[in-house]
Amino acid sequence: MINKRYLPPAIVGTFIKNLPKGSKVKTIGYSVQKRPISLVSIGVGNTKILLWSQMHGNESTTTKALFDFIPWFLDSSQQAYQKKFTLNIILQLNPDGASAYTRLNANSVDLNRDALKVSQPESKALQNTYNSFKPDYCLNLHGQRTLFSAGEMGQPASISFLAPSADMSRTLTPARIIAMKCIVAIFKGLENDLPDQIGRYDDTFNPNCVGDRFTLLGTPTILFEAGHFPGDYQREVTRTLILKSFKFFFNALLVDKNIYNVNEYLNIPENSKDFVDLLVKEVNIIDQGTLFKSQHLGVRYEEKLVNGEIYFIPFAAVYGDEIEFNAHRTITLPSDLKNIPVIFEVDKPIQIKEFSELFSIKL
Ligand SMILES: [Zn+2]
Repeated sequence: MINKRYLPPAIVGTFIKNLPKGSKVKTIGYSVQKRPISLVSIGVGNTKILLWSQMHGNESTTTKALFDFIPWFLDSSQQAYQKKFTLNIILQLNPDGASAYTRLNANSVDLNRDALKVSQPESKALQNTYNSFKPDYCLNLHGQRTLFSAGEMGQPASISFLAPSADMSRTLTPARIIAMKCIVAIFKGLENDLPDQIGRYDDTFNPNCVGDRFTLLGTPTILFEAGHFPGDYQREVTRTLILKSFKFFFNALLVDKNIYNVNEYLNIPENSKDFVDLLVKEVNIIDQGTLFKSQHLGVRYEEKLVNGEIYFIPFAAVYGDEIEFNAHRTITLPSDLKNIPVIFEVDKPIQIKEFSELFSIKL
C-alpha cells in the first residue's frame, strides 16, 4: 500500500503487473532514461477518455488516485460505466521525473510546455496516443503546492480545476464550454467535502501547454490540480477527493450537461498565492546584518528526496511586523528560543537545531 508522496516507477510497474486478467496494457514509448511509459485501457464503450498523470514527476497524488479508481472501475458492479466508456490511462507520463522527484523530465524540460515543439519522447508518447485514440475528453492530472488559496486570502485550494483556453481572447469554444460544465458537476459533487476549498486556475492561453493544445484541437480537456488539505502533507486526503472527482466526472457524462451552467464555473474562486506553510510569531530576524526584533516569519517547506523518502525542509519565505499571508500552521516561538535569531536567506534552508523539532511536520 503506497501512502506517501514518493511514487517511483517500480510501484507503477507492480500495480500494472497486478491488474486483473483481461486488462489491456501496452508500452507507448520510453522516457529519456529509457523507462517504459505504460498505457492501461479499460472499458469497451463508445465514449473515449484519455487520462494522464505525473507529466510533472513530483506530482504523485493523482497517480495514487488512479490506483484506487482503476480497480473501482473494473469491479463487476460498474458494468454500466464499462459499457459506456473506453478509458486510456497513462500512469506516470514522466517516469524519470517521478524517480528523481522532479517536475521536469531528465532533459530538464517541462513536458507541459512542450505541446507545440513535441521535442521530448514523453511528449511524443502522449501526442501519438492522443492522435490515434481520438478521445472525446481528456483529463490532465497534476498536483499543486501548498501556497494556493481558493480566492484571495481564502481557504487552502485543496483541489483546483481549469478548462484551458483555446486562444488569446479566451473564447468559450464548444470544447471549453463542455469542460467547464464537467468542472461545475465535479465542483457541486465535492462542495460538502470541501466548502470554499476548490479553486480555479488562471486561464491565460499558452499554446505550449498540453491542455490548451488539446482544447484548441476541439477536445474538452480538464486540468485537475491535487492540492493541500490542512495537515495532509502526504496528500492521502486529497487522493480520496480526487477519486471522488473522477466519479463525479464520469457521472456527469451520463446526464444532460445542460443542467450545468458556465457561469457557475466562472464563479469558482480563482487561485491566489496566499499561503505559507508555517507562521512563526515573535522571532528575531537578522537580514543583511540588521536585527529585527519580534517579527512574524513565514516559512515554506520544500520537498527533498533522500534515500527514497521525501523530507519537508523549512525555508524562510517572508517576514515583517505582520505578514499578508494565511498559514497552514501558526506557532509562537517558546521563550527559551526567542534569543536565537533566524538569518533571513531566501534560498537557504533554516538549519537551527533548536528549531528543528518545532518546525518539522508531523507526518
Ligand atoms: Zn503539474
